[in-house]
Formats: sequence, C-alpha cells, structure tokens
Amino acid sequence: MDLDDADHPTRRRRGLLIVLSSPSGAGKSTISRMLMESDSEIRMSISATTRPKRPGETDNVDYHFVDDAEFDRMIAANEFVEWAFVFGHRYGTPKAPVKAALREGRDILFDIDWQGARQLEPDFGEHLVTIFLLPPSMDELDRRLRARGTDSDEVIADRMRRAADEIDHWAEYEYVLVNRDMEACLKQVQAIVAAERVKRVRQTNLHP
Ligand code: 5GP
Repeated sequence: MDLDDADHPTRRRRGLLIVLSSPSGAGKSTISRMLMESDSEIRMSISATTRPKRPGETDNVDYHFVDDAEFDRMIAANEFVEWAFVFGHRYGTPKAPVKAALREGRDILFDIDWQGARQLEPDFGEHLVTIFLLPPSMDELDRRLRARGTDSDEVIADRMRRAADEIDHWAEYEYVLVNRDMEACLKQVQAIVAAERVKRVRQTNLHP
C-alpha cells in the first residue's frame, strides 16, 4: 500500500495502527471499549466477516456482515489490508479507513487475531503497535468463560481449545499484558499508546 499519505509535511504526527489480540474471555472487548471512550483520537477498525450476526450485534457497527460472494468480491477488488479464516469464517480489515487514518494522523485500533497481525507487519512495519492480552491463567479463563452464562461444557471446551491456539502466538507481539484487573490493564494500554505517540519517528512536524 502507498504510505506516502502518512508522511505529509502538514501532519502533526503519524497515526498508530494498534493491534489488540487476545483469546476470547481475556477482556479484549471491554478494554477496547474503555480505550475508545477515554481517547477521541482512536477509532476502531470495523472488519468485514462472513460469520452470521449474533444476537445483540449491529451491522456496520460490530462488523460489516457480508456473504461469501461479497467477501470474494472484496478480495478480488483488493479492498482488504489483511484477511484470514478464523474458526471457519472469513474476517477481513477494510483498507479505506486505514488509509484515511494514516492520512489524517489519527490512530486506529484493530481487534484482529495473530494471522491479521502477521499480515500487517510487512506493509505497515513502523506504523504498527502490537499488544497481546493474556488471561491470568487458563483456570481463570475457564472460570470467566463459564461465568458468561448458559454455554454447555462442550462449547466451553471448544472455546478453551481456541483460546489455547490464540495464546500460542503471544510471543509474536511487541507488548504482552496480563489482564488481572481491567482498570490496571487499561492504564497500561493507555501508557503504551501515549509513549508510542511521542516516539521521534512519529513526530513528523519536529524540525531540529
Ligand atoms: P468473533 O467472531 O468472536 O467476533 O471474532 C473471532 C476472532 O476473529 C477474534 O479473535 C477477532 O480478533 C478475530 N477477528 C475479527 N476481525 C478480524 C479481521 O478483520 N481479521 C482477522 N485476521 N481477525 C479478525
């Protein structure tokens, strides 16, 4: 992708592409929501997916829910910065909002898995900030997944297997946080974002 937009001379600073990955149950969606609420310079990337909408989800807010034909069309039209199969469905990150964020010096938060993070690396290198959220332990993750409500043992066991697969990739991330406490974890994410924003390479408006 053409990244010239990210270095326009009038830019206050370069935008960050923040990838937040974790197994489900580690608190990723809560942390993402709290981060967005506390920081107006960060927008969430809305992925397209072929997975069916769950109760409570809204089209074009949680995801762009599309059928296989539309997903195929988006791939062919080169509209994704990355896409992957996750547990039998396809998920992809649309390119246009990423380009706009870089052009405008805004930050964008991606809730994507390790496959997505890996695909963004070669194209976006220094624009990327990758964060992995770990649950305090597998026992605690099991407890949190059960506390969600009515899922059967079989569904919980499947989620635990998927979580273990995702956790296998924590070492590919720059920052690794253990989420023992939501507020403390949010503070750590905010500290990472604050520090990344003032890195010299990101401050394109400073001239010695
Ligand atoms: P869910 O179906 O539970 O919303 O998401 C399942 C997994 O897909 C999560 O780990 C989430 O991070 C990942 N995911 C969501 N959107 C994307 C995307 O655009 N690309 C990739 N690679 N993973 C995604």
